[in-house]
Amino acid sequence: MELKSFGKRCGLEVAPVSIGAMRFPEDCTDAVSLIRHAIDAGMRYIDTSRGYGESEFKLGRALKDGYREKVILSSKCSPWCKKVRPDDDGSADSVRRRIEEQLLRLDVEYLDFYQVWSVHNREAWELATKKGGMVDGIQKAIDEGLVKHTGFTTHDTVENLLEYLDTADWAEVILCTYNFLNRTYEPVIEKAHAKGLGTIVMNPVGGGKLTGNSPVIMELASQLGVASVPDLAVRYVLSNPNVDTILCGMQKHTDIDATVAAATQPVLSTEQRETVNAFFEAHSRENVKFCTACKYCMPCPAGIDIPGILGALYEERFLGLTEDAKRTYKHATRDIGPAACTDCGACEEKCTQQLSVRAELKQAMKRLA
Ligand code: SF4
Ligand code: SF4
Repeated sequence: MELKSFGKRCGLEVAPVSIGAMRFPEDCTDAVSLIRHAIDAGMRYIDTSRGYGESEFKLGRALKDGYREKVILSSKCSPWCKKVRPDDDGSADSVRRRIEEQLLRLDVEYLDFYQVWSVHNREAWELATKKGGMVDGIQKAIDEGLVKHTGFTTHDTVENLLEYLDTADWAEVILCTYNFLNRTYEPVIEKAHAKGLGTIVMNPVGGGKLTGNSPVIMELASQLGVASVPDLAVRYVLSNPNVDTILCGMQKHTDIDATVAAATQPVLSTEQRETVNAFFEAHSRENVKFCTACKYCMPCPAGIDIPGILGALYEERFLGLTEDAKRTYKHATRDIGPAACTDCGACEEKCTQQLSVRAELKQAMKRLA
């Protein structure tokens, strides 16, 4: 894979596909083999976390025998995502403890990146960036050579993030979700790139949604001359010039090979991207006139999660994501399913889309249970 600039701030280069280290195989030998296969395939950046189970230990084993020198190793933590000790509080001292512990878990002398993990609201941002907070602690570790660079990962609102980026001079990279089903953070990625931050995308294949065989999206892929839905997903994200690299989740060698093969295909042209965008616009919940998850029908007196169940039906009926729809249905009905409906009709009186909610719930039960 060809390397490209990883933003302008950190001075590094990155491959288009990177190692997402959230879930490795259970067996450590398998995990080590997989990680080394990914590095041999040209991946450089590795995104792990104190909160990803045994991930740091497995990486520590994999990065022996000269592999450490080939990679850009990044880990992260935050007290609002994971408290290792009860007194972890996001102070500079507490982040210092985490960095020292994570270096031991990874069995490395330094981290290329240590990031603030999952800024999800303003309170988290302020806790991280206040005087004597996480960012100051990371900066001190940078001064001492334990960490080389920093940044943050996020699930905050677009509005907040656009504002934070104006003052986040300390951040060299940002990590957020982006794919053709969820383009929410497109303006954030654009602004981050313009300001010189390296941009990393998680969930390029929709958290696994787009690895299945959707006949609906496959028709779009065929129309564009693309071999598969995951190929289209990978090439779509990488065709955004503001994206530097995507995280590839990996369970087996073929996950790596397929993603690298897609990433080495030509990126989509502007016209192809526009076709993809127009397709999903036409298939949006609003445009197909299906449940918009507005929740006006809630609460259901029988306790049924109406928008959750109809959301599953939407994925199946309009996007052809059957397997994912079944998972969504299972989650939405984990407490109470459509069978509990008493036929009171209250939901249909309130439905903003004038849906036959009861009939749709029955359909969902028939097709997805
Ligand atoms: S008709 Fe069924 S789903 Fe609708 S509000 Fe009544 S009990 Fe709930
Ligand atoms: S009111 Fe209608 S559109 Fe809104 S969540 Fe309920 S079923 Fe969906």
